[in-house]
Amino acid sequence: MRSAEIRQAFLSFFEEQGHTIVPTGSLVPGNDPTLLFTNAGMVPFKDVFLGRDPRPYVRATSAQRCVRAGGKHNDLDNVGYTARHHTFFEMLGNFSFGDYFKHDAIRFAWTFLTETLGLPKEKLWVTVHISDDEAERIWKDEIGIDPERFSRLDEDNFWQMGDTGPCGPSSEIFFDHGPDVWGGPPGSADEDGDRYIEIWNLVFMQFDRDAQGTLNPLPKPSIDTGMGLERVAAVMQGVHSNYEIDLFQNLLQAAAKATGHADTATPSLRVIADHIRSCAFLIADGVLPSNEGRGYVLRRIIRRAIRHGHKLGATKPFFHMLVDALDAEMGKAYPELREARAQIARVLLKEEEQFARTLDHGMGLLNAALEELEGNMLSGETVFKLYDTYGFPFDLTADVCRERNVTLDEEGFQRELEAQRERARAASQFGADYSASIELDGETSFTGYDRLEDQSTVT
Ligand code: ATP
Ligand code: MG
Ligand code: MG
Ligand code: MG
Repeated sequence: MRSAEIRQAFLSFFEEQGHTIVPTGSLVPGNDPTLLFTNAGMVPFKDVFLGRDPRPYVRATSAQRCVRAGGKHNDLDNVGYTARHHTFFEMLGNFSFGDYFKHDAIRFAWTFLTETLGLPKEKLWVTVHISDDEAERIWKDEIGIDPERFSRLDEDNFWQMGDTGPCGPSSEIFFDHGPDVWGGPPGSADEDGDRYIEIWNLVFMQFDRDAQGTLNPLPKPSIDTGMGLERVAAVMQGVHSNYEIDLFQNLLQAAAKATGHADTATPSLRVIADHIRSCAFLIADGVLPSNEGRGYVLRRIIRRAIRHGHKLGATKPFFHMLVDALDAEMGKAYPELREARAQIARVLLKEEEQFARTLDHGMGLLNAALEELEGNMLSGETVFKLYDTYGFPFDLTADVCRERNVTLDEEGFQRELEAQRERARAASQFGADYSASIELDGETSFTGYDRLEDQSTVT
């Protein structure tokens, strides 16, 4: 089954079960300054769950474009290292707003997987939250799941969109890719491997977490599910890695051609093929590279892609050339991408030309520093110099260092950054407190790397 057919089969299945097909929303959440990007199918429905946005339907289904490259769900560092993570992916979802709950959500998911898609039951593994007797009973007594392939877990089975917002216990379904792949079942010590790949998460939405961390009950218990289209396509197409599915073949070929590097299994090519999707869609949704907020996340992804091209020996701008291949692959399903393609290519080319001026020198400095390194930590001064003089985002330097098993002195980097801010403050003729003014206009300014780990809030 091709990816497009899976997407259609999913939407049709849920439409037959009384769900309204809702078109996919923007990657920039219109209603939510607390969230960097749309990171799940439920995001456009957040206010519906909260009871603040009445709709003419209580059941909905969608194929939602998502980006996970910052904030609570950040998979940027996984790309190129796992078979299953992208910065951009499509999440297929079905939603109940105070209508059906656990029983139907589980039954729908099981029917779709085992009947519509025809997946063998013995390859499917299931987890529920440690506290959830009801979900366990449904899986065991009604569905008849083999207890061998069932477990109760804690944090992994509590889903939340961000630090605040709708959340609840969940039930996850995994596909076993077989003993040729390393990794243990969910909950085991080796669960980080890629043998048992999570394909679908059913969230039993019950709470709204507020800024103090308190869980307030939602007006009505609801359902939010998310299934990664690319992961299911890998299962249906009998391949292990998402990067081997139909959708990625032409993109990888295009990346191979543009960089002059033929082996499409090379991790750097996969990173580039991944990054063109998030970058192109973010630009189509109105984000432009900049030094703050969402624009800085986009700039970081673009620069990372360029660095990987550089690593493969590309000497000219190449990244913008992939827009046509992406359009050929996804433009039909996403007219907004097709419409914006010339603009996307222009923005990318400009960013490539700009970064090209410093990339070579920066890489020279970094390579020299790595060669002279004693121990395995790169100094904060070097990381800062790369950032400040050569435009290397922190995570780009980290990406290079990871390839050589070197870590970064993050604290040292922060100190340098802070010292630079002090200098800027001292130099300001009005003597204004620069950092205080940033906090005041809370929504748009990027405060640097104060919260490297969690940039879910655009502060
Ligand atoms: P994982 O544990 O593999 O990182 P997750 O638990 O973070 O996945 P959820 O937040 O539950 O994922 O999202 C719902 C579904 O979306 C997942 O079951 C998976 O199929 C898909 N998905 C999540 N993250 C990614 C990603 N980075 N790339 C592709 N698909 C993803
Ligand atoms: Mg994850
Ligand atoms: Mg998970
Ligand atoms: Mg999950």
